[in-house]
Amino acid sequence: MRYVKPESFEAAATLLRDEDGISRILAGGTDVLVQLKAEMVEPDLMIDLKHLPGMRDIVAEEGGFRVGAAVSGAEMGEHAALKALWPGVVEGVELIGSSQVQSRATMAGNLCTGSPAGDSVPAMVTAEAVARVHGPDGVRDVPVIDIPTGPGKNSLSKGEFITSIYLPARPAHAADAYLRFIPRTEMDIAVSSAAVSLVLDEGGIVTAARVALGAVAPTVRLVENAAAALVGSKLDDAAIAGLISAVEAACSPITDKRGTIEFRTKTAGVLAKRAAHIAYGRAGGQL
Ligand SMILES: Cc1cc2nc3c(=O)[nH]c(=O)nc-3n(C[C@H](O)[C@H](O)[C@H](O)COP(=O)(O)OP(=O)(O)OC[C@H]3O[C@@H](n4cnc5c(N)ncnc54)[C@H](O)[C@@H]3O)c2cc1C
Repeated sequence: MRYVKPESFEAAATLLRDEDGISRILAGGTDVLVQLKAEMVEPDLMIDLKHLPGMRDIVAEEGGFRVGAAVSGAEMGEHAALKALWPGVVEGVELIGSSQVQSRATMAGNLCTGSPAGDSVPAMVTAEAVARVHGPDGVRDVPVIDIPTGPGKNSLSKGEFITSIYLPARPAHAADAYLRFIPRTEMDIAVSSAAVSLVLDEGGIVTAARVALGAVAPTVRLVENAAAALVGSKLDDAAIAGLISAVEAACSPITDKRGTIEFRTKTAGVLAKRAAHIAYGRAGGQL
């Protein structure tokens, strides 16, 4: 295996484009090094981009934040302004692993590894986060929802990699939340998960909503009719019932050792309801 620290994004793209074998980007390494050790993959080329400009930075931009692709979950959790703007995104990232894993693991790595249960992805999707992708043909901005394409797969072309993820500005009275169910109290993979992002008016009525689910389909699922059920309400019983039934209808999980199809579907609805309540309170609404 060749380990390379290229001098620029352009050099990295060229190296990745010209490699005929298996390539991996080394971000936190908390997936890729585990896979190497377990002999699940033997990359021919390992590219380390962490030293390149902007990769370790969280920068304010047009009312939102641009988070470099090598910023760890722990660093995000320590950034008060980022946490205040997108609390649900940060809590998703902060659920990943232990303190040791937290100090290395990145949102970009979590996204690109393509796990349906990736904890940072649902809240990034409800935030309408956008990944900046560099490659042999230049730079493009891709909505995060379009990056994972299935378990272990993503939509990046040969030579492409993410350099940052943009979390946009949001209006007053807005907040988000992320919850997951795991069989143990920590250090486990989500059986189901839900992220909810809400915008309220001055009177506490929901004016905009986004709902996304994890671990209940091959990729994160954005459930537009679940969000629509909340708009125009103060999360009254009818709105929550509409949310739950839309969430349950959107689930197409598998049965495995962590949970059955029925259990994953049921818990997704419960988590979406609870996440909606948390987001509502954070946005200043009174239940
Ligand atoms: C003990 C332990 C507990 C864990 N717990 C959780 C958990 O609770 N929830 C959870 O979701 N995950 C968990 N994980 C998995 C892992 O920590 C996360 O998926 C993490 O976010 C991966 O990020 P990373 O920076 O370490 O990625 P890496 O391992 O460095 O890379 C992962 C993959 O993404 C690709 N990649 C990385 N960066 C880029 C980039 N910038 N552009 C393009 N491709 C890129 C790599 O090529 C590789 O294929 C756990 C792992 C361990 C070891």
